[in-house]
Amino acid sequence: MPVIADKAVVCLVCDSPLTIDGDAEKGEIIECSACGQEHELTAAADGVYEVCIAPEVEEDWGE
Ligand SMILES: [Zn+2]
Repeated sequence: MPVIADKAVVCLVCDSPLTIDGDAEKGEIIECSACGQEHELTAAADGVYEVCIAPEVEEDWGE
């Protein structure tokens, strides 16, 4: 179920709090509900989460 992490994780772009699923695992993509920036979960243990800006790969598939 969705929870707000004990240790607040905020968007690296707009500083809004990110909502992270309680069972989220490392590598999961967390999208900011305020600005839409995607973050990759780089650590998830005991309610402590860390995120980095997710690399944008969508536009690399050719047209
Ligand atoms: Zn944001």
